[in-house]
Amino acid sequence: MSKNTLKTLYVDELKDLYSAENQLVRALPKMARAASSDKLRDGFEKHLEQTKMHVERLEQIFRSLDESPKGKKCMAMEGLIKEGAEVMEEDFEGAVMDAALIGAAQRVEHYEIAAYGTAREFAAILDEPQHASLLEETLDEEKETDEKLTEVSKEINVRAVEPISGEERSKRGQLRKMPRRVA
Ligand code: FE
Ligand code: FE
Repeated sequence: MSKNTLKTLYVDELKDLYSAENQLVRALPKMARAASSDKLRDGFEKHLEQTKMHVERLEQIFRSLDESPKGKKCMAMEGLIKEGAEVMEEDFEGAVMDAALIGAAQRVEHYEIAAYGTAREFAAILDEPQHASLLEETLDEEKETDEKLTEVSKEINVRAVEPISGEERSKRGQLRKMPRRVA
């Protein structure tokens, strides 16, 4: 296939995504194990199931293209996962470790959002509407995951500021909701 067509680039980008998703399938269980918050762990486990689906959608696209999904390694995902692994080796504990894991996971989601956005546009212009809608389904799940991570981070970051008791935490939560008094 000629190297100067968008179609070739499209297939290259899909291979890159296929590698990225497969690397993530291996990394997410480790991230889930490193999480202390049940909510965060459940979130990672749920995204692992979604990620397996992302792999399947890409395989479906490759079948329709009659191309192999293999042959590329996503260096960006490798780097992002390495950074996540580095963080997991640190002595961070509890909510601080969770805050670090969320930071790593959101970097991954943003990378995927960018890559799927590009791939979906390529699919649309190459007149592959079925690919475009499969890619969009995944894109939506990546965005949703990113938003959920932001939500969980709101709870976890508060806990990570300093170790506090449950009672004190709920007091702080209430204080935060009260309007600020003008002195
Ligand atoms: Fe994914
Ligand atoms: Fe993802």
